[in-house]
Amino acid sequence: MKQIKRLFLIFRGDYILRTYNRVPRILFWHGVDKRISPNVETEILDIGVFEKQIKYLKKNYEIISIENFENRLRNNTFTNHEIVLTFDDGYANNLYVVEPILSKYNLPFTVFVSTEHITTGHFFPTSVNRIITKGAGLKKIKIPSQNLNFSLTNKNEIEKSNVKISILLKTLPVQQVEAITNDLIRNVSNEQWLELKDKYKSVRPMNWDEVIELSKKENVTIGSHCMSHICCHENQNPGEVKKQITNSKIIIENKLQAECKYFAYPNGAYTNYSNKLVSKTYSLGFSAKGRDKISNKNNFSIIPRIGVPSNLDTFKIIINLYPK
Ligand SMILES: [Zn+2]
Repeated sequence: MKQIKRLFLIFRGDYILRTYNRVPRILFWHGVDKRISPNVETEILDIGVFEKQIKYLKKNYEIISIENFENRLRNNTFTNHEIVLTFDDGYANNLYVVEPILSKYNLPFTVFVSTEHITTGHFFPTSVNRIITKGAGLKKIKIPSQNLNFSLTNKNEIEKSNVKISILLKTLPVQQVEAITNDLIRNVSNEQWLELKDKYKSVRPMNWDEVIELSKKENVTIGSHCMSHICCHENQNPGEVKKQITNSKIIIENKLQAECKYFAYPNGAYTNYSNKLVSKTYSLGFSAKGRDKISNKNNFSIIPRIGVPSNLDTFKIIINLYPK
């Protein structure tokens, strides 16, 4: 497969895809940083690879701000050559690594932050899951709130446990997700947890001072990604969904003293109900499903985005291939 991709690119397959598949595209990353273990810090991309991706995009596309994108969407004036750069969750490396690189190339970008994590500094549930199951060297773990025990004595057990917990985190209501996250952390001592947080600091969320500093850069837009990074799925209490979607906007606007017009769904999950709320509250909402074409006929509260692959060859194929 690796060789096929290489050959495809040597014969300029990416150029052909781009020429025939002319559409505006919105890409999303999470973080970019140095990593101790790519297997634990899967949401973080290597700095060198990121810079290569950005050089490639700058050479082949017109990278525009989210405000400019909204303008062209509403006025139906796309050149179909546009790319918008977005980053989810609000990692500290967005300020310390991403911003200096993108500012060097003079490129605009948007960061969608989960306000509760910015306030508390708590790592995101999926990061905690990976750190505890894959990055702490534990042989077994307990999740009392779900009455679950996992043995972690080999690679297969580790992988299976991580996936099982990840599914729970993405499908259960927020209160149960919080209980599971706390249970995960209790498998190590307070001291060990502090050490693990320091070891895997690439997944640390920004604090408010850092978000404010980032928001002051001319090329940066801050959007909302709920309060507690909840997934807006069917199992979530509607009152909770409403609070998360509406209050996160109020919190961001209070902290930044600026309008928060854009929203991205955590994990891309949405329902009709959350959709209606987002369209009432924000100018535009973004999903994580990138395969539909963007046009002014789209529902403006679930605009598709393409998740960026970490392999450079795969990246050059996927981003030219989709949406189609
Ligand atoms: Zn997210």
